[in-house]
Amino acid sequence: MPCSIADCKEAVYPRYWQGKYYCITHYNELMSNAFEKEWSCWEENMPPSPWLRSLFGRFLEEKWSVRNGLLSKARIRDRAFNFLKGGTGFTFEITRHPGAFMDWSPYGISRIVQKWEVSLKDAIVELIEERPWTTDDPD
Ligand SMILES: [Zn+2]
Repeated sequence: MPCSIADCKEAVYPRYWQGKYYCITHYNELMSNAFEKEWSCWEENMPPSPWLRSLFGRFLEEKWSVRNGLLSKARIRDRAFNFLKGGTGFTFEITRHPGAFMDWSPYGISRIVQKWEVSLKDAIVELIEERPWTTDDPD
């Protein structure tokens, strides 16, 4: 099956974008353009749009390297909070339940909040900090 871009003869890449299949070159181009556009619309003191969060998930899965911990597409898309936009990337936080399957905790399920930093230039997502969970944080 050929790419959905007219006149492109390349075979499709096994991922689709908004209901159509493209070759790897056009797929990457469409993704990058969508990201650039949505990134520039993101106002610094606002949470990112659901569409941008969805793009973060896709980039995490396909392009970014995760360092110092584990992070999934669904978590960055659905569970991340306290986003902070910077010039070359952003930070966000995620609540974790590291003691969820242990019965020794006197407080039941323990929670911590992880802070992650994304460098767009280096395509790296890195766990940079852990702090205790507070009642102001999402569960
Ligand atoms: Zn193509």
